[in-house]
Amino acid sequence: MSARLLDGPTVASAIRESVLPDVRAFTASAGRPPGLGIVLVGDNPSSEIYVRNKVKAGGESGLWVDLQRLPATASLDDLLALVDRLNASPIHDGILVQSPLPDALGKHATQRVFDAIDPAKDVDGFHPVNVGRLVQGRAHLVPCTPSGVIEMLQHYNIRIGGTRAVVIGRSEIVGKPMAMLLLQRDATVTICHSKTPDLPAVAATADILVAAIGRAGFVTPAFVRPGATVIDVGINRVTDRAVAESLYEPGAPRLADFDKRGSIVVGDVHPKVSEVAGALTPVPGGVGPLTIAMLLKNTVTAANARLRSA
Ligand code: NAD
Repeated sequence: MSARLLDGPTVASAIRESVLPDVRAFTASAGRPPGLGIVLVGDNPSSEIYVRNKVKAGGESGLWVDLQRLPATASLDDLLALVDRLNASPIHDGILVQSPLPDALGKHATQRVFDAIDPAKDVDGFHPVNVGRLVQGRAHLVPCTPSGVIEMLQHYNIRIGGTRAVVIGRSEIVGKPMAMLLLQRDATVTICHSKTPDLPAVAATADILVAAIGRAGFVTPAFVRPGATVIDVGINRVTDRAVAESLYEPGAPRLADFDKRGSIVVGDVHPKVSEVAGALTPVPGGVGPLTIAMLLKNTVTAANARLRSA
């Protein structure tokens, strides 16, 4: 059996299309486009790519995207002052601070910064107010990656209600909100993590298995009930050919990619899972593009809510 592939770009373009009329309507009534402020601190190469893609996608959808850069030497106070300015700005409807932040800002910097963003402009959905609203089932701005996964399941008419769902990973940005969104749609949800006993056996109870771990090819066929839907959130850059060889058969095109570029991006799910699963999101080309589409959607949601409350 070969799993049906759930195609991220198809779903992402449907979401981006659906946002366009709302962007036009907002721009007509407000006299300006919805505004998104993106803060990038330092020069992490992956963050540069993520931010570039967000700026491009926002522009293509008719948003005004304001990229604010701070040097790696910036202090936490500098960053919090910038967040305050964006909070007070009438033309920034959404604020996103790209993580990870430089280590030099300290262990609690990320939480301090997320806590400082006005919840009404918190398009990442990480502020405690938005997290609390999500847990209470009255979400306003929901973290983009897990809400993109829900859009993906809905787009492909994959039933959530009444199913068993297992989420591997309990991070604040993916695992926990993912579990909440599945629970609210009447799945019976188990959250697994690095201390879960018998992880493959627990995972294999799932009708919907979400992997958000950050380990290349960790989820092998032993984790997967035949016919299950497997959502691979992981984005892992592999730079060691031995690791690439543990994932792909000799002669596989992805090994040729590796030899050409010196690295490849893979998910948390081993490619062999496609022989067991009923449906599977590829990496790249699965969940990744949805995250940006949901960011645009959240920005328009935030902009409209601010317009209504003005
Ligand atoms: P994280 O490091 O914050 O959390 C990883 C989670 O995996 C933790 O809760 C941990 O308990 C669990 N884990 C780690 N090792 C484990 C093990 N051996 N067994 C079971 N559980 C284990 O990571 P995150 O921010 O949630 O991201 C997870 C992955 O998703 C990463 O690869 C990241 O790059 C990717 N990601 C993708 C997108 C996207 O747009 N597709 C967005 C965010 C994150």
